Amino acid sequence: MSIESLQSHLRVVPDFPKKGIQFYDITTLFKDAQCIRELEDILYEQYKDKGITKVVGIESRGFLLGAALAIRLGAGFVLARKPGKLPAETVQVSYQKEYGSDTIEIHKDAITEDDVVLLHDDLLATGGTMVAALELVNQFKPKASYVSFIIELVCEGLHGRDAFPEGTDLYTIMTLG
Ligand code: AMP
Repeated sequence: MSIESLQSHLRVVPDFPKKGIQFYDITTLFKDAQCIRELEDILYEQYKDKGITKVVGIESRGFLLGAALAIRLGAGFVLARKPGKLPAETVQVSYQKEYGSDTIEIHKDAITEDDVVLLHDDLLATGGTMVAALELVNQFKPKASYVSFIIELVCEGLHGRDAFPEGTDLYTIMTLG
C-alpha cells in the first residue's frame, strides 16, 4: 500500500475543535484493516533493529499504534498521560501551548537507564507535546530515545521538527500541510 493510499484514508475535518483548525482524523485510517497493518509494518521496519525495549505512547491517540508496535517489537508499553490519570507516583513536565500551559506525566518506575525508548504519537504540529515527553523520558537517562509520528504537519509558520533538540532521531510516516 502506498503512502498516497494511506493519505486518501485520512479524514480532514475543518473547524474542529475550533474555528480555523483543520483536524486530521486518524480514526478513518485505523478502522481500515489494511491501513492499520501497513502503518504498523512501516514503523516496525523502521525500528526493528534498534533494540527498542519500551514504547511510550502519548495520550490518547498515541496509545493505539504505540501499543501495537510495542507488542510487535517485543517491547514494553508506557503510557504518557495528562495529569491526575496515573494512579502511582509520577514524574511530570509542564510545557507552553498556544494558549496557556499543559502537563504530561509518566510513572516514576516506568523507564530505567537500561531502556531504549521509542516515543510515539499520531501527529506532529508545533511539537510542544512531544518535546515535553522527550524531555521527561530523557530524565531517566535511557540508552537511546527515538521519536515517531504517523503525520507531520508542515505549513507556513508551523515546522514542529525544529522544536526538537539537535540530534533528535525523529521519523514520520507522512508529511502533510
Ligand atoms: P503539538 O504539541 O502542537 O505538536 O500537538 C500535537 C498533539 O495535538 C497530538 O497529540 C495531536 O493528536 C494533536 N493535534 C494538534 N493539531 C492537530 C491537528 N491539526 N489535527 C489532529 N490532531 C492535532
